[in-house]
Amino acid sequence: MVAEVLDGRACADSIETSLGAEMATLAESGITPHLAVIIVGNDPASHVYVRAKERACARLGIKSSKYELSGDAACDEVTSLVEELNRNDDVDAILVQSPLPDGMDELAISELINPEKDVDGFHPHNLGRLVQGRVDGLLPCTPHGVMKLLESAGVELAGKTAVVVGRSRIVGIPQALMLGRKGADATVTVVHSRSQDIGQICRRADILVAAVGRAEFITADWVKPGAVVVDVGVNRVDDDTTEAGYRLAGDVHPEVASVAGMLSPVPGGVGPMTIIMLMANTITAARHRRSR
Ligand code: NAP
Repeated sequence: MVAEVLDGRACADSIETSLGAEMATLAESGITPHLAVIIVGNDPASHVYVRAKERACARLGIKSSKYELSGDAACDEVTSLVEELNRNDDVDAILVQSPLPDGMDELAISELINPEKDVDGFHPHNLGRLVQGRVDGLLPCTPHGVMKLLESAGVELAGKTAVVVGRSRIVGIPQALMLGRKGADATVTVVHSRSQDIGQICRRADILVAAVGRAEFITADWVKPGAVVVDVGVNRVDDDTTEAGYRLAGDVHPEVASVAGMLSPVPGGVGPMTIIMLMANTITAARHRRSR
């Protein structure tokens, strides 16, 4: 079997077209959504992600502002900036690019963001709504993107066994909540670094979402034939045979394509979905704030 490709780029393009129509409606009311991005330090991957977000904003006509702080900035500088952006009525959406330098408390900073402007969906208010099964607010972009990708591929979730490998607050836990909530109705198991017999648990999955942060961790013998496999991972692997000296690898081994029914590629799977869901959240935040 060769797995069907879960094409995140194509899915994101089609969502972008519908967001374009929403932007046109907002423009008629004189509304231009505004996303403010804070980036601290010079982690190269983070700068690549932020540039991709800026390009998506430009394509859609969303105003974007970037605030770059040096890696040795004090935590107070970040918190004051967040508070200033909370107060700024022109700003609809605030994103603090992860990871922050060591010593900065990401949880405390996400808690400072006005929940109405929290387009990452990490504020306890927004995560709490998700725990309540409410999906009409600002949802974390990556797991929401995975749900949209599954939906666009026509993957049936109700009654299916889903396994999420990883329990981060950014991906794994919200992913499990979204898959298992009333309306999606999968039966979900979450696997983490203390889990035992992971291969055996994964082999039960009709839908397997890998968010581990370990290159090619999920091997073909862990996958049920015909399963839908979503690879969230983006890992840098040293590789002297490439011009750059490294390559990007997912959390899923390429051989899984010979067992799975569907598989999302890296790159071109979850990555574009994350960015387009950020755009969707920015537009939603602007619509909600400005329609009052
Ligand atoms: P994270 O915060 O490091 O969480 C990793 C999770 O994997 C943790 O829950 C950890 O368990 C679990 N884990 C680690 N080693 C394990 C092992 N040997 N067996 C079982 N579980 C293990 O990472 P994250 O932020 O969720 O990101 C995961 C991956 O997705 C990364 O590669 C990241 O770059 C990628 N990502 C991609 C996008 C995108 O847009 N494509 C967005 C976000 C993240 P413990 O909780 O026990 O430590």
